[in-house]
Amino acid sequence: MRVVLLGPPGAGKGSVAQLLRDRLGVLHIASGDLLREAVKANTPLGIEAGRAMARGELVPDALVTAMIRDRVVQAGHGRGFVLDGFPRTAAQAVALDEALAAAQAPVDRAVYFKTSPAMIVKRLAGRRVCAACGQNYHATNRPPRRDGVCDRCGGALAPRADDQPETIARRLAVDEAQTAPVLAHYERRGLLHTMDGDQSVEAVFDQMVAAFRRQGWLQQGTEP
Ligand code: ADP
Ligand code: ZN
Repeated sequence: MRVVLLGPPGAGKGSVAQLLRDRLGVLHIASGDLLREAVKANTPLGIEAGRAMARGELVPDALVTAMIRDRVVQAGHGRGFVLDGFPRTAAQAVALDEALAAAQAPVDRAVYFKTSPAMIVKRLAGRRVCAACGQNYHATNRPPRRDGVCDRCGGALAPRADDQPETIARRLAVDEAQTAPVLAHYERRGLLHTMDGDQSVEAVFDQMVAAFRRQGWLQQGTEP
């Protein structure tokens, strides 16, 4: 399956993608995680991207596209991918189409997590992320077994640097301006599927698995 997840920050894309990875073994490619790794490693890409990320602005299309393209093409040939956080602009969507068309492995479906502003703010304010492995938690919705400690790897949990109120507001404004053309892009191609992002992560996951099963994308042995 080659799926892209669309929706605002806090829509639950990352959490659902992590469940797809853990329970179905799907490759999860998250542009935000890759960018944060580059920032941590202080690569030239990281230095350039870090400035935009700290302000809640988008990283320039050319940088993000170059970072994602090879990974996605490679995964498209193999077991497929769930792409989370990319494409975020119409230009990125076009670049993705071109790369995957050349690889004869086009996107199968774009899933839009339609989410209310009140829900987004609640989720981002409570979000806690593992500094070591990137696993997401939530102070009340999905607490770790031990306070402040990652269930997966024992790493330390902390709020994300850009989950501050002013940066959240900026990210939501940027997202609103950019999302409409990306949705239109996939709508025109007949690939857009809208889900209620206000539901729990488990509910969204179950509905996606049911849809994938209808598409015949789940093989025996990968059933959750
Ligand atoms: P969120 O969806 O909660 O904003 P992400 O982890 O997806 O979180 O992204 C964090 C930041 O990384 C964004 O605010 C933006 O600066 C940058 N970023 C991630 N993906 C992209 C992209 N496809 N294009 C441009 N910038 C991106
Ligand atoms: Zn961890």
